[in-house]
Amino acid sequence: MQERIKSILQMEPSDAIVRAEGWVRTKRDSKNVSFIEINDGSCLKGLQGVIDKASFDAALLDRISTGCSIVAEGRIVASQGGNQKTEMMIEHLEVIGDCPQDYPLQKKRHTVEFLREKAYLRPRTNLFGAVTRVRNTMAYAVHSFFQENGFMYINTPLISASDCEGAGAQFQVTTLDLENIPRQKDGRVDYTKDFFGRMANLTVSGQLEGETYATAMKDIYTFGPTFRAENSNTTRHLAEFWMIEPEMSFCTLEGDMEWAEKFLKYLFSAVLEKNEEDMAFFSSFVLPGVEDTLRHVIESPFAHMTYTDAIAVLEKENDRFEFPVKWGVEIQTEHERFLTEEVAKRPVIVTDYPKDVKAFYMKMNDDGRTVRAMDVLAPRLGEIIGGSEREYRYDVLVSRMKEIGLNPDDYWWYLDLRKYGTVPHSGFGLGFERAVQYVTGVANIRDVIPYPRYAKSCEY
Ligand code: ATP
Ligand code: MN
Repeated sequence: MQERIKSILQMEPSDAIVRAEGWVRTKRDSKNVSFIEINDGSCLKGLQGVIDKASFDAALLDRISTGCSIVAEGRIVASQGGNQKTEMMIEHLEVIGDCPQDYPLQKKRHTVEFLREKAYLRPRTNLFGAVTRVRNTMAYAVHSFFQENGFMYINTPLISASDCEGAGAQFQVTTLDLENIPRQKDGRVDYTKDFFGRMANLTVSGQLEGETYATAMKDIYTFGPTFRAENSNTTRHLAEFWMIEPEMSFCTLEGDMEWAEKFLKYLFSAVLEKNEEDMAFFSSFVLPGVEDTLRHVIESPFAHMTYTDAIAVLEKENDRFEFPVKWGVEIQTEHERFLTEEVAKRPVIVTDYPKDVKAFYMKMNDDGRTVRAMDVLAPRLGEIIGGSEREYRYDVLVSRMKEIGLNPDDYWWYLDLRKYGTVPHSGFGLGFERAVQYVTGVANIRDVIPYPRYAKSCEY
């Protein structure tokens, strides 16, 4: 019988021979027996294996060290030690891959900075094992949430010729020889010679294409990678990150906010339910109380506030901020944190932002100054979701584009959606890594994705 460690740990003592495969985390020797901890990533805790030294070749036992891979067979018995219910009395043991002493992950606590340099080994640590399992639960929950609610999963293109909203600098995709760039007479690059015959970029968002499917399939979602050449060296920005973007037709901003709240709570509940052991680990070693915070968030309704009201609250506190606010400016992380941590003490949805700080496609309010945007702000993190009701009135959209200097011809197909059977629709984008960060309490976004990409860093 061969099982994952997670299921072996749930077995009752019995005479059946069980086979465990994994990597040795630790080895402790006493006079007659050795104790090893075997981990295979299926759960945080390892299986304790007990080796009666007299029954094994000393040379074999010498090869067992932290990091080596082994196969062990034996019976599951009640453990005499206090740390575990059961353990394996090892009867047969094989070292598959030795692990010499220069293995970087010797038993001690390593800093996340050190582990980032060893990103190819860090899934073998408690922290990254736990992050990986939680991320997995959340990815699965993203799909189950939308599937249970009748949304259609859409794969929008990663290579795109349209700049969604100028959300951040884009990465260019080209096969032109950069040493020898073809040029037009006036000196500009001749993109007709490029692979697509025009300039192309990696997508910063699948929203515009998502909208085309929402206005046929009613409710859709995307879940895929997005790319932003952001030079910002923050703990919340990556150059490559995963985004979830639902889009709902016949849905106004009110519905949008309801979906966003329901969705976040569903994700958090899934983790509390499926990753109890990992969440206890995060609460003990990463961020005290993170588990209780999640529970609190799930139980309490999100607070709501218009941008104008938020500014009124923030203005009174201007001397505490690095960037003082007034109506019309962007709300930055320090302000977002103040609103969630000090004012509301829970997530806050801020709505109706000034049109000048938001994208062209957001529905204009009757005041002519604000748009039907909403950001979901989370304590500790700031913005976790950005969304809006879309401008579905053809004329209003065209004049808005002109107003901010976009050429409507570049968005001809997007405008056609407003020409042929237009409908109120809304959507939002959740940064997947920000959500994982929030749930785990991990401080830096670089530590919740296997191989973080950011300015000057593309290792592995
Ligand atoms: P921010 O102000 O934090 O940079 P944004 O306004 O650029 O966010 P949107 O364009 O609305 O964000 O993107 C939707 C969501 O994608 C954000 O709410 C956030 O969760 C996530 N996100 C945005 N940029 C990044 C990034 N560089 N790395 C990781 N996640 C991001
Ligand atoms: Mn941004």
